[in-house]
Formats: sequence, structure tokens, C-alpha cells
Amino acid sequence: MARQARNEALFREVNERIAELGEQAQAWSPDGVVEFMCECGEEGGCGARVSVPLDTYERVRQQDDRFVVRPGHETPEIERAVEWADNYVVVDKIPEVESLVEDDPRGAPSS
Ligand SMILES: [Zn+2]
Repeated sequence: MARQARNEALFREVNERIAELGEQAQAWSPDGVVEFMCECGEEGGCGARVSVPLDTYERVRQQDDRFVVRPGHETPEIERAVEWADNYVVVDKIPEVESLVEDDPRGAPSS
């Protein structure tokens, strides 16, 4: 459980890089949708992509215990879904594991 939560934090780091690139790429992707890595905590990463509007991603990152995953990739033991869309689900970490993911690169507060 702890390792899975840390994996999710790892993919958040990857997605931060993708978001930076996405911001630069927005000039030629007018809908603002960026392909992020699924942040479910599967060992080694599940490799799935999630198409998320950049503004939604930015909103998710406002809280350091929220992640975006593909629909069906939620792990009920450590998180609960708080937002659903066709291509992604936003999950919020349960309090028991919040401390494991709070090393947010942006230092955002948790819920
Ligand atoms: Zn996944």
C-alpha cells in the first residue's frame, strides 16, 4: 500500500514534465487536452495514457493528494474517486496514506 502510493507520487513527477510540455504545445493543440500518464500506483506503471484537459490537470494539482487515473484504475483501498469524465477519473487519497504522497513538487496543500 505504501509502495503503491509512492508510485503514484512518482508518476505525478512525470506528469509535471508532460504538463510543462503541454503548455508549450498548446499553440498547436487548441482544445488544450494533453496525454498524461495514468497515475494509478501499479508496480512499474500501467503504461496507460489519460487524456486530460490541461486546466483540469492544473486544478487537480492544486491539492497534493489528488491524482488522475484511467477509469477503472482506481484503488479503493487508498483513494476514492471525486470526479468522473469519459477519459479520466480524479481520485483523492484517503487520510491514512496522505502523508505518503505529500512530497508534492509544488508544495500544494492536501484536502
Ligand atoms: Zn493505470
